[in-house]
Amino acid sequence: MKSAILVCEAWRSTHDRPVYTFAETCPECGGPAVNSAPAPYNPEDPHGEYRRALKRRESE
Ligand SMILES: [Zn+2]
Repeated sequence: MKSAILVCEAWRSTHDRPVYTFAETCPECGGPAVNSAPAPYNPEDPHGEYRRALKRRESE
């Protein structure tokens, strides 16, 4: 079952607000719609190492 709410992939440059849809294309511009959930944790997050270092320091 696919019930996730999608959002226009290019809404930031195409619309002045997020355009949500249940379809796989944006109803306003016809562009692709993508999952609106926040991106999963990125192991290559360039700031991750800094955050982890901070956390280590706090726990010492
Ligand atoms: Zn759109």
